[in-house]
Amino acid sequence: MLETQSSPFQTEAGPQDGPEEADVIVLGGGIVGVSIAVHLQMRGRNTVLVDRQGPGEGTSFGNAGLIQREAVFPHLFPRNLGDLLRYATNRSTDAYYHPAMLPRLLRPFLGYWQNSEQGRYRTIAHAYAQLIAHCVDDHVALAEAAGAMDLLRPGGWTQAHEDPKVLAAALAEAEVMRREYGVEHVAMDSAALARHEPHIRSGLAGGLHWTQPVGVIDPHALTLAYTALFERLGGRVRFGNARTLTRAGAAWRVTGAGGAIAAPISAPEVVIALGAFAPDVTKPLGYAPPLFVKRGYHMHYQPDVTKAGGNALLTGPVLDVANGYMLIPMRRGIRLTTGAEFAHRDAEPTPVQLARAEPAARRLLPGLGTRMDAEPWMGARPCTPDMLPIIGAAPGQKGAWYAFGHAHQGLTLGPTTGRLLAAMMTGDTPFTDPTPYRPERF
Ligand SMILES: Cc1cc2nc3c(=O)[nH]c(=O)nc-3n(C[C@H](O)[C@H](O)[C@H](O)COP(=O)(O)OP(=O)(O)OC[C@H]3O[C@@H](n4cnc5c(N)ncnc54)[C@H](O)[C@@H]3O)c2cc1C
Repeated sequence: MLETQSSPFQTEAGPQDGPEEADVIVLGGGIVGVSIAVHLQMRGRNTVLVDRQGPGEGTSFGNAGLIQREAVFPHLFPRNLGDLLRYATNRSTDAYYHPAMLPRLLRPFLGYWQNSEQGRYRTIAHAYAQLIAHCVDDHVALAEAAGAMDLLRPGGWTQAHEDPKVLAAALAEAEVMRREYGVEHVAMDSAALARHEPHIRSGLAGGLHWTQPVGVIDPHALTLAYTALFERLGGRVRFGNARTLTRAGAAWRVTGAGGAIAAPISAPEVVIALGAFAPDVTKPLGYAPPLFVKRGYHMHYQPDVTKAGGNALLTGPVLDVANGYMLIPMRRGIRLTTGAEFAHRDAEPTPVQLARAEPAARRLLPGLGTRMDAEPWMGARPCTPDMLPIIGAAPGQKGAWYAFGHAHQGLTLGPTTGRLLAAMMTGDTPFTDPTPYRPERF
């Protein structure tokens, strides 16, 4: 099921003289690009998916694997003084910044700050919720078609709280989310949390269990499974460098990255779904949104099952709210994922937050066990100052479309973005008004 019939990437286009022709080129084989390619191919568009590496090997590889039905309120910029001072010291675990990056972050942060004001934020959250509402159904539809349902783990995820006041505030917000957006949760006192996750330390204030989200036990395998579905539908996957994108008359053209033998690919339409790397290609097209990245890390641990009496250590994913990291039972082991690192996208990894989170994780889950990866993995969440993704026709560039900027919820929203954009590109009525996500807003 996870195996593709042939190699996932072919560098040669086959015996032909001119460029390889298609209806659409999708640039970027992350969860967003792959999902768009599947939806276009399902609608009969002859599609070529292009990436410079294997599908799902970018940020889509290493996330926390949550299809976040609860995430109707996107991550806002902190606006209370206490939080701002805490982050300014650069000692917290959930957020960390490279001081040299601050001048470059001024412009996006100003917008992010303004958009986090209560009134604006509610409008933004409403637009976000229209996408989030479909995330689980859209994933299940693709996973069923791909034969990949075994990679999905229902049962939601849990916030573990140390501070009763923070828990009370989270539960109050959860009630608003239930009332306004149908997001379901279960409130847990200390004893209920201990029953739910018997191997985390006792004596916590309590928990908040989001019941509708779905976990992915191997996000890379899920992207590969959707890629295999795309190929079964007749789609083609090629190595190529998106930076070679040019317009040749009425067509868009990309050349292969596989050396001189790879033929150019030509199509009247192109989708730029390059996640954090999208500006590399959109800037030469005259589009420079104030995108910034929140980098994040993961590490796997071999659980010490002796501490669990032979049973699994975690029932499901757990967020340590006080310390801002997650523990997720994955196929490979327990994955620890970190919060937001504000740094240059291409700067060397600085896994400071992982070093800070690990001792806290060992206190929370004594059976966490030993590190399994030689190095921490790093990815970059592509973020916009208004917390909404950029989805729609590229301004002033006939036949070009954008789909990036999914920040903390790119895995969640990949298939929903694919369904929305494919409908827009084929002239169908989209399931929701796409105006809030239009590229022109930047
Ligand atoms: C630690 C962490 C935890 C996260 N947890 C979650 C979670 O639980 N749930 C959730 O929904 N989201 C989560 N996210 C966010 C999510 O992973 C991202 O939003 C998502 O992966 C973005 O997908 P994408 O397809 O836009 O980008 P990517 O997966 O980065 O794909 C972009 C692709 O473009 C390719 N590319 C780049 N430049 C070029 C070029 N010049 N030529 C050709 N190809 C190129 C790359 O190789 C890559 O394959 C998390 C992120 C992090 C870092």
